[in-house]
Amino acid sequence: MSLMNGEQYIESLRKLKTKVYLFGERIDDWVDHPIIRPSINCVAATYDVAFSDPELGSAISNLTGEKINRFTHLHQSSEDLVKKVKLQRLLGQKTASCFQRCVGLDAINAVFSTTYEIDEKHNTEYHKNFVDFLKMVQQEDLTIDGAMTDPKGDRSKAPHQQKDQDVFVRIKEKRPDGIVVRGAKCHQTGSLNSHWHLVMPTIAMGEKDKEFAVSFACPSDVDGLYMIYGRQSCDTRKMEKDSDIDLGNKKYGGQETLVIFDDVFIPDQYVFMAGEYDFTGMMVERFAGYHRQSYGGCKVGVGDVVIGAAALAAEFNGIEKASAIKDKLIEMTHLNETMYSCGIACSCEGCQTKAGNYQIDLLLANICKQNVTRFPYEIVRLAEDIAGGLMVTMPSEKDFKSDMSIGKNGETIGEYCNKFFVANENVDTEDRMRILRFLENICLGSAAVGYRTESLHGAGSPQAQRIMISRQGNIEGKKCLAKKIAGISQK
Ligand code: SF4
Ligand code: FE
Repeated sequence: MSLMNGEQYIESLRKLKTKVYLFGERIDDWVDHPIIRPSINCVAATYDVAFSDPELGSAISNLTGEKINRFTHLHQSSEDLVKKVKLQRLLGQKTASCFQRCVGLDAINAVFSTTYEIDEKHNTEYHKNFVDFLKMVQQEDLTIDGAMTDPKGDRSKAPHQQKDQDVFVRIKEKRPDGIVVRGAKCHQTGSLNSHWHLVMPTIAMGEKDKEFAVSFACPSDVDGLYMIYGRQSCDTRKMEKDSDIDLGNKKYGGQETLVIFDDVFIPDQYVFMAGEYDFTGMMVERFAGYHRQSYGGCKVGVGDVVIGAAALAAEFNGIEKASAIKDKLIEMTHLNETMYSCGIACSCEGCQTKAGNYQIDLLLANICKQNVTRFPYEIVRLAEDIAGGLMVTMPSEKDFKSDMSIGKNGETIGEYCNKFFVANENVDTEDRMRILRFLENICLGSAAVGYRTESLHGAGSPQAQRIMISRQGNIEGKKCLAKKIAGISQK
């Protein structure tokens, strides 16, 4: 089997014995849990798109020659990199959420190329191990959690200097047939919804941090792996009986968990780095570069929906013809397409790695993500400006639907709500409510994790990109250009 559809994917999760905790309790039926299920629906969309839009959603594997889901593909050209960004925009448009599966795609491409170069220098066999693992991933159409971010403890200290060494994932023990790992990864996007985890180091490391220089794969339900589910703003609205409009986005959502490795045994065949600290920087840089490219697709797709929702809110309020509204929508579009341009540009300028797959232009990918740390915030500000204060002061869905009589003439709560929140006469008040709740969800509610804070901190916080921009920006080369034209001969 090479391609699953969304339903098959959801069924495949039911077979896992993943240990997850939410609100201090173990959740056994997590696939159907109201807080978790929207994030599963989102990943399911990455499976369905392989059938509904095969040009973007699928690819031919260079390893097996079979048709596979693009989320398990090794990029074979700049065109593949462009298709990835287009696919992410499309899925952002379909879900208005983080569909999670890109972390695995970015991880497999980074680990594939890095293991090749580790083997070249150290005579190891990680690349072969990884190719075998990836063939299984492609053939079984698995979702992979690309796991990079460690809790990191005291930020002023290296891994080996930490009081509690568990704050970075490390090799606790080497055995003849594998390694035992201990530690945790936090903010793990889509981790519970993944079949396997692909762990990478979180920072460039030196010799003293050798035991922390580790990359490996393990199933999500392996012995010793636990997840503690991250909560999101307004998440308990999903637990309310019959909730619909108040959710804003009923079907889709994102997910992050804290993933704990409590002495997990990893057989040799799933180990892709074990002590080669000199390649930690390369693996981190490549994964981060791919994920910074990704944001030029996914956040743009979500931005398309936000712009559409803001335009609808204006229409429902009866102000869509005002020039100030039109200008705000133009500004939002300009910001959104600027992010997309960066995602496409860093893909077009991609180049081949020694291992044969393609990677993005690192400078342009970092510029892309730097813009993403800012523009969604401005887009959301403009959307809130257009929507008006009702977005956050409106009574609940239950009030709008209530038939409790409270007025002197028997008026119900629902009648009052509907009477006083009418705007454009041609629009149902319920539709006005729906679009405002959708905007609330994405600006301040559970989807704000994916659209705002993740835009800031996901794939590295703004300063991480600025460091890369300073490394890649070639200021010396630019000085030479200026000197030449200005007639300065000083070397
Ligand atoms: Fe994919 Fe975007 Fe979510 Fe990252 S933030 S996993 S790129 S949808
Ligand atoms: Fe992300």
